Amino acid sequence: MRTVDDIPAEIRALHTDMQRWRRHIHQHPETAFEETATAQLIADLLQDAGIEVHQGLAKTGIVGVLRRGNDSKSIALRADMDALFIHEQNRFDYASCHEGKMHACGHDGHSAMLLGAASYLAQHGRFDGTVYFIFQPAEECRAGALQMIDEGLFEQFPVQRVFGMHNFPDVPVGHFAVRVGPMMASFDCFEITLRGQAAHAAMPHLGNDVLVAAAHLITQLQTIVSRQIDPADSAVVSVTQVHGGHTWNALPDSAVIRGTFRSFKKTVREQLEHGIQHLADSVAQGFKLHAEVCFNPENPGYPVTLNSPAETESAIRAATDVAGTARVDTAPTPSMGAEDFAFMLQHKPGCYIWIGNGSSQGNCLLHNPHYDFNDEILPLGAAYWVKLVENELPG
Ligand SMILES: [Zn+2]
Ligand SMILES: [Zn+2]
Repeated sequence: MRTVDDIPAEIRALHTDMQRWRRHIHQHPETAFEETATAQLIADLLQDAGIEVHQGLAKTGIVGVLRRGNDSKSIALRADMDALFIHEQNRFDYASCHEGKMHACGHDGHSAMLLGAASYLAQHGRFDGTVYFIFQPAEECRAGALQMIDEGLFEQFPVQRVFGMHNFPDVPVGHFAVRVGPMMASFDCFEITLRGQAAHAAMPHLGNDVLVAAAHLITQLQTIVSRQIDPADSAVVSVTQVHGGHTWNALPDSAVIRGTFRSFKKTVREQLEHGIQHLADSVAQGFKLHAEVCFNPENPGYPVTLNSPAETESAIRAATDVAGTARVDTAPTPSMGAEDFAFMLQHKPGCYIWIGNGSSQGNCLLHNPHYDFNDEILPLGAAYWVKLVENELPG
């Protein structure tokens, strides 16, 4: 059985450094497109390792370039740097010192693992070709990956294949999980505004009650998945906000319903969008109201994270080299969560893998105010990146 002790000594020797970087980033979390101190720390460490550094794509994005030998082959390894707008409830000494922000998704760990791999590869890496280290901003909701692509990521850096990694609570430490095809769902938001006529609460017949209509609509929206989508497909519609009214004895003239929908197929995604639009219009019509429906009003939706077959084989091989066959799950249930690495996979073949973060006990769940990335897995993640590079760009 393989253990952390099987990881090359030079990578294990970086454990203390990676933990220090990880905890520093954890303590100083920065949110979408404001990751300036985090980006500077990363750029400095890459430079110190002798890696060519390019800053400024999507404001805080970084691309490190490491060339060796003459082969024209190249791969990109990507980590995300952003934190969430969550107030940390951990009490340890490296807990967030930025009010209302925290690394509750482990992007601190992702950055530290990729820095560790970059440092190892610059010093000891046996490979022939080019490695691009992509540190991207704004993975959470704001599609930093898309912005880097729109600003010329793949024109400036002719990446052939892209690889991403995310920590996953409840996948055991020392294990990896990855599969061909859909790994994470598409992610879209909707906002429905119902407009009617305000009235005295005692005389509803003189107005058009938007709140009763909103209640009906919320229930109706749940029938899209249960009655319109093929039961063999996966999909979810969740209403997450309802706003309307401000006093006891008056019916308001408008109500707003917001929520999200997710699926694994483009066709299902279109069906969900159509279903929401149609039900909003028809329920509004039934109640003599007007409905305005807006999709993704603040940010672009995320596509399905789709792993390509050859690159998934490469990921399985590297993970197996690190963890052993028994610890690489090649048929995990895909997550209904979403990931903006999906945009990179729309442009380049590649693969997104989960690395086990261990038990979620003590609320160590992603996006939970008690979450903390597991420092124990830092060398495993770094070793995966190194194996991937050395396997795919043999020197
Ligand atoms: Zn997240
Ligand atoms: Zn994340």
